[in-house]
Amino acid sequence: MDNHDIDGDLTEMLLTEDEIHAKLAELARRIEVDYDGRKPLLVGVLKGAVMVMADLARELKIHADMDWMAVSSYGAGTKSSGVVRILKDLDSDLTGRDVLIVEDIIDSGLTLSWLRENLESRGAASVEICALLRKPEAAKVDVDVKYVGFEIPNQFVVGYGLDFSEKYRNLRGVGILAPHVYS
Ligand code: 5GP
Ligand code: MG
Ligand code: MG
Repeated sequence: MDNHDIDGDLTEMLLTEDEIHAKLAELARRIEVDYDGRKPLLVGVLKGAVMVMADLARELKIHADMDWMAVSSYGAGTKSSGVVRILKDLDSDLTGRDVLIVEDIIDSGLTLSWLRENLESRGAASVEICALLRKPEAAKVDVDVKYVGFEIPNQFVVGYGLDFSEKYRNLRGVGILAPHVYS
């Protein structure tokens, strides 16, 4: 790995940068076909989706606009509460737009099901979801995610935008955080 200082904090490297890029290229080919003749508005969910958004958007060979939202679905704990607050809203008018939400990871799915409903209520023509990672918990919630990169085990991962207390976002790949870091 490239981020040598961080390696000791991980129990396992799950996905390398190359594997992630190859998967995003696959997803981009599907998106290009599905949105042929349209210009999607990519909505990145800050901050975790920054890397996915940057790489996916540049991989696309069709026109795409980009906008950003920041939401908070967590109280003091580490589990989704289902109560979502908008910390930073979109700049774009969604009327008639084909919105593609770009997310880093789906765990409970509560944040995304709320977000999809919220964006649909603003008059978007369509709202789909692209997530790089999905955990098994997500299967319990009825949220239809059209584009999924990787199914991963139910463990806390960091890197490629994903943080633990704002750390590890700059790790190039995705790895499992070692328990000694948070205990
Ligand atoms: P959900 O509402 O699906 O439970 O919450 C999704 C959000 O929780 C993600 O966008 C991400 O910010 C955070 N999250 C869920 N699982 C993980 C994980 O394994 N690692 C990190 N760093 N964040 C996670
Ligand atoms: Mg996220
Ligand atoms: Mg986080």
